[in-house]
Amino acid sequence: MTEINHLGRMADFDLTDTQRQVRLAVREFAEREILPTVEQNEREGQYPRELIRQLAPLGYLAPLIPENYGGSFSDVVSYGIVCEELARVDWVIASAVSVANSLVGSSILRFGTESQRQQWLPPLAAGEILASACLTEPSGGTDLAGMRTQATAVGDDWVLRGNKVFISHAAEAGVFLVAATVDPALSHQGVTMFLVDPATPGIEISPLPMRTLQRDNVAEVHFDDVHVPSDGLLGKQGRGFPILGAALDTGRFSVAARCVGQAQRAIDLTLPYARDRRAFGQAIGEFQMVQQKVADMICRTEAARCLVYRLGRMKDAGVERCSLEASMSKLMASEAATQNALDAIQIFGGYGFSSEYEVGRLLLEAKTLEVGEGTSELHRKLIAEFSLGLRK
Ligand SMILES: Cc1cc2nc3c(=O)[nH]c(=O)nc-3n(C[C@H](O)[C@H](O)[C@H](O)COP(=O)(O)OP(=O)(O)OC[C@H]3O[C@@H](n4cnc5c(N)ncnc54)[C@H](O)[C@@H]3O)c2cc1C
Repeated sequence: MTEINHLGRMADFDLTDTQRQVRLAVREFAEREILPTVEQNEREGQYPRELIRQLAPLGYLAPLIPENYGGSFSDVVSYGIVCEELARVDWVIASAVSVANSLVGSSILRFGTESQRQQWLPPLAAGEILASACLTEPSGGTDLAGMRTQATAVGDDWVLRGNKVFISHAAEAGVFLVAATVDPALSHQGVTMFLVDPATPGIEISPLPMRTLQRDNVAEVHFDDVHVPSDGLLGKQGRGFPILGAALDTGRFSVAARCVGQAQRAIDLTLPYARDRRAFGQAIGEFQMVQQKVADMICRTEAARCLVYRLGRMKDAGVERCSLEASMSKLMASEAATQNALDAIQIFGGYGFSSEYEVGRLLLEAKTLEVGEGTSELHRKLIAEFSLGLRK
């Protein structure tokens, strides 16, 4: 059977040579250094801290942070390619890059003071510290305006009290981006954002037992009368919701790119298996029903990739709000990643459930991205509301 060069055929018709080189370089590093560690890290619940540190000198840790703050910013599409290729081998390392750049780094860049940028961006870009975004609460993550973590002004300073759940990278982070409210009755107009040192007295980080991603150490974070100095306020009191909106807009781009990487991984694992595995005297890839799954996996991945790169190009062109396109990309790419993992498992038969093969692990990891940074239901609602003129 003829070998198809997927790197040469995937939707990259508008990538520059430099962007194509970024893909090859990240892919080569990820396959050589990261891939061999993932299964063992997952079994042992081992967070890949050292590998994340190694991304910094290569320029893969801070692709959205400008050079004058120690980052390697070139363009948004390249950032998406870095996220895609890292996620193709490891959810956790891609997530660390995505949270540090899209949610936390971009928020500091766009809404922080120069002193906040100088304090947090160089150590983030150098890999000296990691970042966590503390948004979701036990009472709900979709309805962010309904958050309950309380921020109380004490003179010029602040005191935070409340609980956050499902916080990725928390135990390893050197900076928390925290969303709180000055008054829950004010709904979104009460939301206020803070940059907090996780070592501040009153912060307790405890493991949140998960069915997947043992190597991410997903945590609960408790804020018990945590004193935050005035320079920890990001933006202005009660003006946190637009900061969240901008952060999630960029976050959904990188999550969508990560989903494309995961969808691609399912394809890359499935093609050789379908060629080699035999039943009834022939390769299973010669059965039409297997071929149908392979064709659908490839089509949905390429369709999602086109949406993601288009969104990246809009951001590179300076389009201010891309929320509709961000929702479309994130929705389609996350559902493609889950469906590809399901199809891959079916094609692998019983071996899809064997710990000898990756495809079984991919399924729950992909499904988490239909929930994080906006559930599929939320994105369908946003897309419909934008299109119906119910939301501007
Ligand atoms: C692996 C993983 C890592 C995560 N990392 C982080 C992190 O680092 N930081 C962080 O802050 N959070 C993180 N999260 C949390 C994630 O962002 C939330 O789980 C998500 O926002 C959904 O919130 P929830 O779980 O409270 O569900 P809920 O908000 O309770 O929603 C439950 C269900 O109701 C549906 N629903 C809710 N509102 C509506 C509506 N208006 N219309 C239709 N359906 C609706 C939802 O779509 C969902 O199906 C992580 C989650 C996972 C699984």
